[in-house]
Amino acid sequence: MTRVHNFNAGPAALPLAALERAQREMLDFEGTGMSIIEHSHRGKAFEGVHNEALGLLRELLAIPDDYHVLFLQGGASQQFAMVPMNLLPQGRSADYVLTGNWSEKAYEEAQRVGTVRVAATTAEGKRYTRVPRQDELQLDPNAAYVHMTTNNTLFGTQWHSYPDVGSVPLVADMSSDFLWRPIDVSKFALIYAGAQKNIGPSGVTVVIARKDLVAGGRKDIPKIFQYATFAENNSLYNTPPTFAIYLVRNVLAVTKELGGLAEIERRNREKASVLYGAIDAMADFYRAPVSKESRSTMNVVFRLPTEELEKQFIAEAAKKGMVGLAGHRLTGGVRVSLYNAVPLSSVQVLVDFMKEFAKRG
Ligand SMILES: *Cc1c(COP(=O)(O)O)cnc(C)c1O
Repeated sequence: MTRVHNFNAGPAALPLAALERAQREMLDFEGTGMSIIEHSHRGKAFEGVHNEALGLLRELLAIPDDYHVLFLQGGASQQFAMVPMNLLPQGRSADYVLTGNWSEKAYEEAQRVGTVRVAATTAEGKRYTRVPRQDELQLDPNAAYVHMTTNNTLFGTQWHSYPDVGSVPLVADMSSDFLWRPIDVSKFALIYAGAQKNIGPSGVTVVIARKDLVAGGRKDIPKIFQYATFAENNSLYNTPPTFAIYLVRNVLAVTKELGGLAEIERRNREKASVLYGAIDAMADFYRAPVSKESRSTMNVVFRLPTEELEKQFIAEAAKKGMVGLAGHRLTGGVRVSLYNAVPLSSVQVLVDFMKEFAKRG
């Protein structure tokens, strides 16, 4: 078996140990004579997995008791709609901070629900190369909430300190940097993240939401879109994506075994520093289009002298077992996603190839 160096942007690399456990447990889950996928979502076997996954998340992120942790479906994209549907009553307005393609999408979806305003944008034409400074935020002190995207998956930028929004609830799309390091959950009113970037397969979305906000959410919308519906039913209002939740459980268990989020952060910073170090050391050939202070530790974007060379670089890398390096279709260039499960050894293989490729010119 040869596993590739997987730099996919999402769905993306998962820890080998989490996959091997799924393989071992596939046909006979804990002596029950069937796989976890074949169990009822209301039976003991799945209940155990589900509650273990929730418990591991609470432990790893030190989530305070006054927050719900929910496993929902519909991806982060469904949260673009659910956040305003639940938290934006008529007569109020919400603030959006635009830092990339995904925050634009969240903003556009919220416009369909209610009144929204742009509190800041760092767009330069269609591109974004940085996140805003605190003094660039024009916040409405009466906003129902402020929405931000903590890591901009396409453009390769990331917030390294979170904005001060006063007493207005802060809502964050953390899809592409969820669990990359420890965070203070209490700074946020609601956090959401599609699992398929950093903590599992596609099909499940984690929502961490302050209980008072969930309780005060709108009730004049369909039940299936109310956070309260899922909070009242421990995310078991309808059939959840059981296999996806099972795999998230496996990933979280591996994360804990590795030493938790402090160790994960150390590894992520080391990977990013090795790669950005190589780009900067060969600045006559590779060019990082992102402002230094906004560089993402999760999605590293860089350009080569020509698009021709970029194509050649990506194709040759693929032949050497490095996959997922093509930039998003909106941005072009090379994008290296360094999510939690990508090992430093893969980054070293890539950097060696970058050196060799640049030498050839
Ligand atoms: C991938 C991504 C999304 C979209 O996720 P889906 O699960 O496909 O809906 C939203 N926001 C960010 C920051 C992402 O990286």
